Amino acid sequence: MTPPLSHRLARLVARLLRVRSSYDVRQLLRAGRLVAVFGLLIIAPVALLAYFALATTSEGSTSIEADLSPRALGLLDQIVEEQAEIFNQFEAAVDRRLLRNQSPVNGLDELSPHIIAAFYLDGAGTITDPFELPIRDDPAEATPAFERLMQQAVRSEQGGELERAAQLYHRAAQEIDSPRLQGEARLHQARLHSALGVNENTYADVIGDYGALRDSRGFRIADIARLNQAEEAAGRSPDGALALRELVEVLMGARWVLFEGGEPTVARRALTRLEELRRGGAAIDPDWLARTRRSLDRRDAQLYWSGFLFDEIPEVLSASPRLETGTAYQSTGESPALWALRRAGRDTLLYAFNRAQLLETMARSAERLADLDADLVAAVEPQDAELSAPPVFRRAFERIPGFEVRVSAADPAALQEARRRRAATRIAIILLAIATSVIGIGVTVRYVLNELEAARVKTDFAANVSHELRSPITQIRLKGEALQLDLIRDDEDRRAQYDAIVREAERLSRLVDNVLDFSAMERGAKRYTMRPEDPVDLIYTTVEISRPSIEQAGMTLEVDLPDDLPVIWIDRDALGQVLTNLLSNAVKYGASGKWIAVEAAHNGGALEVRVRDRGIGIAAEDRDKIFEDFYRSADPRVRRCKGTGIGLTIVRYIVEAHGGRIRVEPTPGGGTTFVVHLPLTAREPGGASPHA
Ligand code: ADP
Repeated sequence: MTPPLSHRLARLVARLLRVRSSYDVRQLLRAGRLVAVFGLLIIAPVALLAYFALATTSEGSTSIEADLSPRALGLLDQIVEEQAEIFNQFEAAVDRRLLRNQSPVNGLDELSPHIIAAFYLDGAGTITDPFELPIRDDPAEATPAFERLMQQAVRSEQGGELERAAQLYHRAAQEIDSPRLQGEARLHQARLHSALGVNENTYADVIGDYGALRDSRGFRIADIARLNQAEEAAGRSPDGALALRELVEVLMGARWVLFEGGEPTVARRALTRLEELRRGGAAIDPDWLARTRRSLDRRDAQLYWSGFLFDEIPEVLSASPRLETGTAYQSTGESPALWALRRAGRDTLLYAFNRAQLLETMARSAERLADLDADLVAAVEPQDAELSAPPVFRRAFERIPGFEVRVSAADPAALQEARRRRAATRIAIILLAIATSVIGIGVTVRYVLNELEAARVKTDFAANVSHELRSPITQIRLKGEALQLDLIRDDEDRRAQYDAIVREAERLSRLVDNVLDFSAMERGAKRYTMRPEDPVDLIYTTVEISRPSIEQAGMTLEVDLPDDLPVIWIDRDALGQVLTNLLSNAVKYGASGKWIAVEAAHNGGALEVRVRDRGIGIAAEDRDKIFEDFYRSADPRVRRCKGTGIGLTIVRYIVEAHGGRIRVEPTPGGGTTFVVHLPLTAREPGGASPHA
């Protein structure tokens, strides 16, 4: 197992800070540069990214509004534009009328379908068009004599005495001073004259004398006279129908009186008669009839609304700005009207829109436009009405004071849910990105540390090899010089010097062989010569070569081999090197146990050779690594021994080239056991590279 990252970092820093040479300084600078580049190119962008991502996530709530708002504002624009169009068209139509000197207060339908009344006021604020105010210039009371004569006349008429009745009406007219009452009495007289077929001119006289007057019910006497005359004539000749039609046209062209329904009532009556006549077969233009009926209805409604709204005029005038151009709109209190005021020179034009109808039209248009966006709903509300759940986008109607259009989310709960989900996804993605970055950083740091470690290990290797070379060379030189200078006590001593020289030379050549083999194996250039060999012979021979150094270390050697080991195809030299390396390690690291055992056994198709010691043992976390290039345990007891870290690597290469495996396990009671596991099946070597 690798020591924890923190330890390795600490070790690295400790190494980096132990500045001893220019090499160390260079290393330090290189590492500093690495840290700077790493921080600048990876840590800083990742941190910035995480910061901004998290910062924008916290704005999630407003971002939905921001999301909705362009569409909502677009919708508001459209709705308000449609609303403005109604008024723009109205204002343009009024302009056209004024420019052409046409009455701007008649034919309201053509101005706007929503206008219910209009008033033309002169500079003094008096209504001049389209209706006039009633004039009560004859407040006369009937005298008792007049009343009596009139009652007698009615009774005579009911009794069938028409001539007498006519005379009584005439006398009543003479009895009274009031022209209006005179007119009323004379009208009855004319009716009876007509019925009796006497004095054809009575109607004409009444119209001439009293025509302009109005009776007590507000009817113009001339209108009633003409109506009676024409109705009576209609029964007799086509001229009557013509007279009725003329009467209607006169009445339609006349200025009607506010609060009174004389003209429209007479006109309606005449029109009804004409329709009856037409049904009876008279030649009357049906189009004219329909057209006239329509405009009569409209004008009648206008008269009704004008009377209804008349009282509001002073308030509207006083509340309106003294504007010279343009149109001012206002809506007063509970009034059903939306008022539009504009100046025409010194005069003033007042229009009353049906506010409820207008608002309904606006609401429908808002709904229709909002239907195009499933996320939004629109409504027209009074400005002081309570708001529903936000977000609500609102815009006041410029020309309908007190009202506004509101656009809000169609389904706020769904919006909320979508907002929550989006924020959650965003946070998840950010966390994932951060986690990936952190992992990436960790992996990179680890990789860099490994590379640094590998570089260090290689440097150590070079130092270790030189160190290992020096000691046999020194020994050989010392012994050689002793012989050369004849510093030898006796033959036994001489013999010992020669033995030492041979032993050190062997050690030297073993070391050089190891290094050369290792580099050949690394390059894949190592060749094996496989032959059938007797494993017992191989093991004995190799053990005998190592025996002197084992004994010199004061260790006992036990070799336990069965007699029946089968012949095996191997490269004898290479397998000898495997055993030698394992034995030399057992001497180095197992000396404290004073015991080495070499055992062999075969089971099934494999031969297993064990080399055991009772020395320092191998920590569990080192067991996988000791077979790696240059690896040496950090254990100080290991570090005290000389070594290069390639011995076990070579062992592994060779064993694997034979199709076998090498493993390490603890010796029961302490120490190390290496197990070489070789298949017995004869085979060609695995090729040049043990990795293959
Ligand atoms: P070297 O012995 O030159 O350090 P090796 O490749 O032979 O290199 O061994 C690698 C490491 O394995 C040693 O440094 C040591 O830590 C460990 N090792 C090998 N053999 C033994 C053993 N018999 N007992 C304890 N540790 C061992």
